[in-house]
Amino acid sequence: MQYFIILTFFLYGLVFGSFFNVVGLRVPTKSLFNPKRSYCDTCERTLTWKELIPVWSFAVQKGRCRGCRQSISPLYPVMELTTGLLFAFTYYLTGFSPELMLGLLLISLIIPVTVSDIVYSRIPNRLLLFFSPFFILYRILYPLSPFYDSFIGAGFAFLLVLLIILLSKGGMGVGDLKYYTLFGFIFGFSHFLLLFFLSTLYGALAGGILMKMKKAGRKTKIPFGPYIGLAALTVFYFGEVIISWYLNLFL
Ligand SMILES: [Zn+2]
Repeated sequence: MQYFIILTFFLYGLVFGSFFNVVGLRVPTKSLFNPKRSYCDTCERTLTWKELIPVWSFAVQKGRCRGCRQSISPLYPVMELTTGLLFAFTYYLTGFSPELMLGLLLISLIIPVTVSDIVYSRIPNRLLLFFSPFFILYRILYPLSPFYDSFIGAGFAFLLVLLIILLSKGGMGVGDLKYYTLFGFIFGFSHFLLLFFLSTLYGALAGGILMKMKKAGRKTKIPFGPYIGLAALTVFYFGEVIISWYLNLFL
């Protein structure tokens, strides 16, 4: 039974992932509530149901549009699969509990933001504004202890990242600032510290790898949103474990 539920979460994740992709790609440019059905970005042909099956359609069509043969971004299957795995993993860790809701909310925010930041180097305001009330409601129902830890986390995140923006002149943007602040509110002070550390670590590692591959120079601007999102998920899944391990090591 347990495996059946995990599999169900995985399949739902694939479908939602497909939707999150479209959200991330369309929110910054045009209305998401455009009545137009899914279409090919190049030839604008409306896609049939056979072309809309997550991961499968991409594999069968070998990553190309069946009409114009133009290649489809691998971002689609990658994000669909990632969302499927994250949905399944979240349920596996939390079971049916309030945490499950927080996890699914986090994934629903992080996947479209990641897509948008990779493609447009933008973290859309509309996504943050849309999701913030849900997180605030969640923290009203299930507050951190003490409850004001959310405000300390958010305040600290805001001041820290604002300072970095002012000092670095162009390293991070206002989108990153709001994104970090929201996570400060969700996770509280100590978990935010870990989140911030992990995001810069991931960013530095990825930057180093890209430079080794000669895909980026020292001056190339790398969108930071994906690393913030990855750090937030790490903190959500393993924050308690990492922090208690760290404290045991030094105290
Ligand atoms: Zn096409």
